[in-house]
Amino acid sequence: MATRPIRLFNTLSRTIEPLETVTPGVVTLYTCGPTVYNYAHIGNLRTFLFQDLLKRTLRASGFEVRHCMNITDVEDKIIRDSQGELPLEADNTARHAAMKALTERYTQAFFEDLEAVAIPQNSFTFLPRATQYLPQMIQLIERLEKNGLAYAREGSVYYRVAGLPHYGCLAHLDREGMKLGASVDADEYDRESISDFVLWKAHKPGEPYWESPWGPGRPGWHIECSAMGMELLGERVDIHSGGVDLIFPHHENEIAQSEGATGHTWVTHWVHGEFLLVEGEKMSKSLGNFYTLRDLRTMGHDPITFRYAIQSNHYRKLYNFSVEGLKAAKNSLERLRTFRRRMEGEGESAGQGPWKEAIDPLARIETAREAFWNALADDLNTPEALAALFTLVTDLNAQDDRIALTRAERDAALAFLDETNAIFAGWPHEEASLDADVEALIEARRAAKAAKNWAQSDQIRDQLKAMGILLEDRKDGTTAWKRA
Ligand code: AMP
Ligand code: ZN
Repeated sequence: MATRPIRLFNTLSRTIEPLETVTPGVVTLYTCGPTVYNYAHIGNLRTFLFQDLLKRTLRASGFEVRHCMNITDVEDKIIRDSQGELPLEADNTARHAAMKALTERYTQAFFEDLEAVAIPQNSFTFLPRATQYLPQMIQLIERLEKNGLAYAREGSVYYRVAGLPHYGCLAHLDREGMKLGASVDADEYDRESISDFVLWKAHKPGEPYWESPWGPGRPGWHIECSAMGMELLGERVDIHSGGVDLIFPHHENEIAQSEGATGHTWVTHWVHGEFLLVEGEKMSKSLGNFYTLRDLRTMGHDPITFRYAIQSNHYRKLYNFSVEGLKAAKNSLERLRTFRRRMEGEGESAGQGPWKEAIDPLARIETAREAFWNALADDLNTPEALAALFTLVTDLNAQDDRIALTRAERDAALAFLDETNAIFAGWPHEEASLDADVEALIEARRAAKAAKNWAQSDQIRDQLKAMGILLEDRKDGTTAWKRA
């Protein structure tokens, strides 16, 4: 199948460039995945949704996409949150088990959230866990040592930034700016230079560790993406993506690691998504504006509505999340679903034609189709793609009011809706009924009561109340419910 040419903004050049792939017709795509120590928040989900949009657009444009997303399952916060309960004398096996218990739980929760926003697990080619790639990380660090780009100090290994002339190429930093921006980690006083970053961290008491040529320790955060990306997608990758916060230092350091080892360019196209703000502010727990997808569901919002709200904005613009925005998204989706039902049915002609301003519906659909795909191919311009779709809906509705569209015209409209749905995944989906969620919670409460776990049954009652659901326990042991 021939592929449609795609243009994408490249952070390396700061311009929109045509996508050129190593293998014609195939795109290798690496995206930085979640750190699984907690539920993903809606900001994280914005980034994963933009990457899903990119992947769906590439696939619909005829490319085979090999998509690798890592799961970061070893990291400072994971260690902090998983080791607290263990006694200091706990052995390494127990420490690894505690870390795995935490990360597995949140990995599963993460996949549930992705499914809810129509990002199926089987849309990824590789979903590697960092802890399964320790040998590759160690080998990569050894390659860097051999190239004079890594040095060991007291059981830790650091990257020698001064050894790589093009360090800073992605973030467009000059060396002076870089030094100012570098974070000073109290543990890393052994570094030759303040801009050097850690590849391998020496073991500290109370932490899980792996054996390595430098003694026991664990990988630094940046090395995993270079190691897994090169192992699974190769030493020349087409697209690498993440949120804008990852440009520096994470992606800059990935370039240093991979290119320092191979001596050639690793990734051709770096694509970054802008942040999500909540009511104009950075999301934070202390501001009380921090939401997970679960919070939105509890508030009665359909995850697919959230998906649409995100996808209808351009990925390189800040997105200001608000409940108003979700309502607007819900209305837009309703309009498309209503139009879809109308096209599925048979129209009735008003019987007063021919109308002077009658359009040719099939030609009109073709125009919309071209505009839709051109907009997406132009740096994923979803606002423009949706504008083309909504203009078509307006025109066909107006026409159908006067001269009923024929079955063939209706089918052509439906086929185009399906095409657009392959990207947006919002229609023909109908708003999820909350009833199934409510029934599941009532069942969980019944089980908690049977186990005499009153605290939990009360907590579920409160959760349902927050969702606007009132319960009535009946004498026969069943529970009736209604909306407040
Ligand atoms: P993390 O789990 O912190 O490694 O983040 C996962 C992804 O979410 C990364 O690609 C981040 O760039 C992205 N991300 C974090 N916060 C936000 C935000 N507020 N808006 C959009 N993306 C974000
Ligand atoms: Zn990464």
